[in-house]
Amino acid sequence: MTALPDRLIVEPVVRTVTHGARTVDTGRTMTVHFIFRCEFCDAQSDPMTQINLQKAMRERTWGAFQNALPGNWLVFHGGGLYGRARYACADHRGDLVAYLREHYGTIGFHVWKRPPYPSSLAHADTDHAWIAATRRQGGWGS
Ligand SMILES: [Zn+2]
Repeated sequence: MTALPDRLIVEPVVRTVTHGARTVDTGRTMTVHFIFRCEFCDAQSDPMTQINLQKAMRERTWGAFQNALPGNWLVFHGGGLYGRARYACADHRGDLVAYLREHYGTIGFHVWKRPPYPSSLAHADTDHAWIAATRRQGGWGS
């Protein structure tokens, strides 16, 4: 496994945890590292694709395909009746599309979208939703 350079490691800060009606300020930080695996071969992404897969996690959408470059991975943003997000390496992009069409093709049109798929689904509300969810100040990468 290839280690990410220190400058690429995302370190979200969790300062407040809510338990029921009370809020606890932990005052501690926690390092989180996401590991993305292909649904079909268990491959992991290269470091640069990893960054784009992490960005894709922030998208507030569902039923959409998205490219994750430069490794040419394919992300399907599930949600609702489509279930969780799914990831496929460059060799298994077609397998992911075929799987989704076989299992969800009769209940939604989203899985029938044809390439080219966008590399970013970001819009004006994406940054706002991310900031609100993480209580960060600033935009992407801050
Ligand atoms: Zn694969």
